[in-house]
Amino acid sequence: MQFSELGLSPKVLEAVEKAGFTTPTPIQAGAIPPALARKDVMGLAQTGSGKTAAFVLPMLSLLETGRARARIPRTLILEPTRELAAQVQEAFERIGQAHRLTVALLIGGVSFDDQAAKIDRGADVVIATPGRLLDHFERGKLLLTGVEMLVIDEADRMLDMGFIPDIERICKLLPFTRQTLFFSATMPPEIQRITNQFLHTPVRVEV
Ligand code: AMP
Repeated sequence: MQFSELGLSPKVLEAVEKAGFTTPTPIQAGAIPPALARKDVMGLAQTGSGKTAAFVLPMLSLLETGRARARIPRTLILEPTRELAAQVQEAFERIGQAHRLTVALLIGGVSFDDQAAKIDRGADVVIATPGRLLDHFERGKLLLTGVEMLVIDEADRMLDMGFIPDIERICKLLPFTRQTLFFSATMPPEIQRITNQFLHTPVRVEV
């Protein structure tokens, strides 16, 4: 399987080449085509499998049309820890350099006001930990009604850290018609329940 066979746009294929990726990893080959077809995806994959690019690349494709409006992000990536959120931001900005998108990182331990100012200028992508995202929402700094794509990454770690109630709350604040890409290394019953509740006939990709 080649990247050129997955249905990615020419601009995203250029980004892939610049990133130095030559062949898609199994999670990328399995998740990217259904994600580009706007289907929900449930990916069972570990860190190191290339799962970050499995959601970043279709997200870049989606964001090639339309533009962000003040306080209304277009896509949302949820991560269980600040460190993972920062790593995904770094990967997104590296792969998505040529797309010139606005990426806001909403995590604890750094200035709330700087984050709010960034969303206020219009963010294409918000990468957040659940608690800080809800903080911004509750203080009226962002609206979740414009989210076209949600990524829930490392869902089993979200469960370990007690974030499932926050995830459920966030999912209920998002438009019903959004697309959801869901990643977890394992599928305990509580995670299975969440996928049944919040994914619409997902394509399951196991690597
Ligand atoms: P991840 O599992 O997303 O944390 O990715 C693990 C590492 O693999 C990162 O350093 C990526 O830059 C790298 N990577 C992701 N996809 C590919 C690919 N198709 N070819 C080569 N390296 C990749």
